[in-house]
Amino acid sequence: MSTLFGKIIRREIPSDIVYEDDLCLAFRDINPQAPTHVLLIPKKEIAGLSDAGAEDQALLGHMMLAAAKVARQIGGGGAFRVVVNNGAEAGQSVFHLHLHVLAGRPFRWPPG
Ligand code: 5GP
Repeated sequence: MSTLFGKIIRREIPSDIVYEDDLCLAFRDINPQAPTHVLLIPKKEIAGLSDAGAEDQALLGHMMLAAAKVARQIGGGGAFRVVVNNGAEAGQSVFHLHLHVLAGRPFRWPPG
């Protein structure tokens, strides 16, 4: 089922796109939780990480490398955090798989 991220991929709603390739798209989060907060999504509509299958192995690896590339390009320094919220109880609100790429401030552990 298509979500608002599907609409962003199809350019039906605007977003501040910072990276794109054949397999994924990255754009700035509308409600940033750090000076840099980018969402990296696969163009394939996968609802969440737990919905990915063995056929998505290369895509998921590609996304991790793309996340590091985006962080290098726009994150400023070398430190960044990548977060996947999987399921509503873990904080997922948009059911199209996405990596949060956060940078530009110190991060505490454990996350809340
Ligand atoms: P989740 O809570 O599912 O892990 O993350 C969804 C993220 O999407 C949130 O950080 C939220 O701010 C962001 N978001 C929700 N709607 C929009 C939108 O229309 N545009 C953009 N750029 N980000 C959005």
